[in-house]
Amino acid sequence: MLIKDNIDNERKLELLQKYWGFNSFRPLQNEIIDHVLQKKDILTLLPTGGGKSLCYQLPAILMQGTCLVISPLIALMQEQVEILLKKGINAAYINSSLNYKDIDRILDNVIYGNVKILYLSPERLQTELFQKRFLKMNLSFVAVDEAHCISEWGNDFRPEYKNIAKLKALNPDLSFIALTATATLEVIKDIEEQLLFKKSNILKKSFKRENIKYSILDSVNKEKVLLKTLKKECSIIYTRSRIKTEEISKFLNKNEFKSDFYHAGLEFKERERKQKQWLNNEFDVMIATNAFGMGIDKPDVRTVIHYELPETLESFYQESGRAGRDGDMSYSFILKNNKDIENLNSRININFPNIEAIKVVFQSIVNNLQIAVGYYSDENYEVDIDIISNNINFSRSKTFYCIKYLLNQGYLSQVNDYQYSMVGIKMPIARLNQFVNSYKKFEEIIDVLIRSYSLINEKTVRISENIISKRLNINKTETLDLLNQLDKQNVINYKPKKSIYNISFLIPRPNIKNLKLASDYLNFKENKIKKTNELINYINHKTECRNITILNYFGEENISKCNNCDNCELGLSVKNNPENIIKKAIFFLLHYEDKSPNFIYSQFSEIIEKDRFNSILKKMIEEELILRNSQNLLFINS
Ligand code: ADP
Ligand code: MG
Repeated sequence: MLIKDNIDNERKLELLQKYWGFNSFRPLQNEIIDHVLQKKDILTLLPTGGGKSLCYQLPAILMQGTCLVISPLIALMQEQVEILLKKGINAAYINSSLNYKDIDRILDNVIYGNVKILYLSPERLQTELFQKRFLKMNLSFVAVDEAHCISEWGNDFRPEYKNIAKLKALNPDLSFIALTATATLEVIKDIEEQLLFKKSNILKKSFKRENIKYSILDSVNKEKVLLKTLKKECSIIYTRSRIKTEEISKFLNKNEFKSDFYHAGLEFKERERKQKQWLNNEFDVMIATNAFGMGIDKPDVRTVIHYELPETLESFYQESGRAGRDGDMSYSFILKNNKDIENLNSRININFPNIEAIKVVFQSIVNNLQIAVGYYSDENYEVDIDIISNNINFSRSKTFYCIKYLLNQGYLSQVNDYQYSMVGIKMPIARLNQFVNSYKKFEEIIDVLIRSYSLINEKTVRISENIISKRLNINKTETLDLLNQLDKQNVINYKPKKSIYNISFLIPRPNIKNLKLASDYLNFKENKIKKTNELINYINHKTECRNITILNYFGEENISKCNNCDNCELGLSVKNNPENIIKKAIFFLLHYEDKSPNFIYSQFSEIIEKDRFNSILKKMIEEELILRNSQNLLFINS
């Protein structure tokens, strides 16, 4: 299907110059393009900003037919297409922001017109409309952007991605190029499997980012540390919850920063607007959940701050990698405290209960229902998760994940859909404040709802009346009453829990002793733990170069120190640190925040003995290098 079998380099460079105005390829681009032109399946790993788009856009122009680009970045498709159209390249996109008619027309254009590049989201592949037209399309190849999303082991697992391989079933000649900036060996293998690569074919550039200075800041009061860290330059702050994005933005605006917030719960149009304004430097700081930034190409992002811990080292690398695309010195900060790490671990423990917990739940269920070992009938039983969790003194979510396991493994079967109470806030935030001002009695419950359920502004979420009652310190009837009133007033949408689990036993009731954990469950859990630990290890490391840790994680070896990150700069070693180095490290800690002596020591406990640390600290205080405030916190005497 090639226009010419061996496209010589001159022709490629000519196009590069003509459409992009560049004189040379970036590392690996040329090789990657050759593979695409030869219709080989290929997986490319180039760092963020490495120029992945060109690797499919240029061959798409050279080859006959249309290149399908599957991308999770709905918000960016339009922008990409606009840029391509401006260059004179015929491109189009279909995603959920378009109506049926438009999509229909665009698909016709692909079949009968001369569309070179069609962007679409993975959801689109499933639609009947697309499937019908697919076979009629003359396709050059398929590009899968941000391909780590394909992988269950990647961080953005989206089940719709599984449909990509089906394209190959329909058209076995179709070749694929998968592009990503983050992939561990596991993810690489998984992507190749998911895309049915006939053989492994990987082109990979080192992930080293020389111009990013990585630092981790131990912070008790993150807001304070943030103000110390942030400059009035283009920045992104990542946080885990949607509500937080808004809170931090408010806080920063009060402190004379120009900021705005972004998360997937906002309307498409609004997200688009905010993104555009940020790209146009109308404000400096974007505070966002991880929904923001993938594929964004803003060269002058100076600082990326993780206000809360990122999920994995991959997502950290991706997100921090949005800084410094222009090659200028840039900064990555993670603000962490011990609580964050506890939270990471406890989340895993809740999502993946151990066998003892599962046994306790199972025992409680069968006790409640009075079902003896070996008993079997096809009757349906009711199980109330609240009663069970109360009986055994588990949290509701712990109980839930235990039952989920029993269901998944076929010990129990769920007859009905388990229904939760659901609440969504209908009223826009601005009006909500007015409402609360006029109806004070709802102030607390609304506050609790917003604080307890971070997504409640965007969609209906599961709630527990019990938890709300506890937090409000009122009884459940009162809570139900308040919720019902709010629903009547159209402030919230409240759907009380209608039923409890309706279950049946698929097999004769087993002996509790015989319950065991399935191997796929254990593997999945193990993988989650491993990833979390790698992240924690990165965070807690006081001595190893940050770059080395990251690159080792991605399978790169023999890396030299960056001489740039916080650890390189401080130069602590595992043992026997000279006094001046310890002093420097203490100054570094105190630079961002006043801290207690104990807190400071907790940061060094693994690399220096307490006595020696204390005597150094004492000397610093005596020499008035550092001072003590009324709360016994130390600060630098400047
Ligand atoms: P990625 O998807 O790998 O993060 P992009 O495809 O968005 O990166 O490209 C990042 C930036 O690099 C873009 O501004 C792009 O125009 C630029 N770029 C790509 N290839 C080249 C090249 N050969 N020479 C100069 N700039 C390039
Ligand atoms: Mg990209």
